[in-house]
Amino acid sequence: MSNKVVKSDAEWRGLLSPEQYHVAREQGTEQPYTGVTWNNHEQGIYHCICCGNDLYRSEDKYDSGTGWPSFRRPVDPENITAREDDSFFSRRTEVRCARCDAHLGHLFDDGPKPTGLRYCMNSAALKFEKSP
Ligand SMILES: [Zn+2]
Repeated sequence: MSNKVVKSDAEWRGLLSPEQYHVAREQGTEQPYTGVTWNNHEQGIYHCICCGNDLYRSEDKYDSGTGWPSFRRPVDPENITAREDDSFFSRRTEVRCARCDAHLGHLFDDGPKPTGLRYCMNSAALKFEKSP
């Protein structure tokens, strides 16, 4: 992990769509089945919408049935940060981009083997780049 990306709220607003801004910078959650990548099966890399950080590979994506893009593992654990989030009266682990601190989604422990992890992301926080 290299340089942190730090911008003001006004700068992020200028770079992101209103929904992307709401999810990534205000910890919003998009409606399930509405995002552009929850049902994407193409091969490629999912980047942070804010800073382009490599976050997930398509081979680690699976259909969780939730309507949000879900992954077994990140490209590199150092590319994300996970921390406890006590909002909504339940303990969840919030997942953020390690480079720009964008809110990406949440981590659950009910995923498929072998990791048993479910990285439940928001499409609005991801930018998909198809493999050439
Ligand atoms: Zn980022």
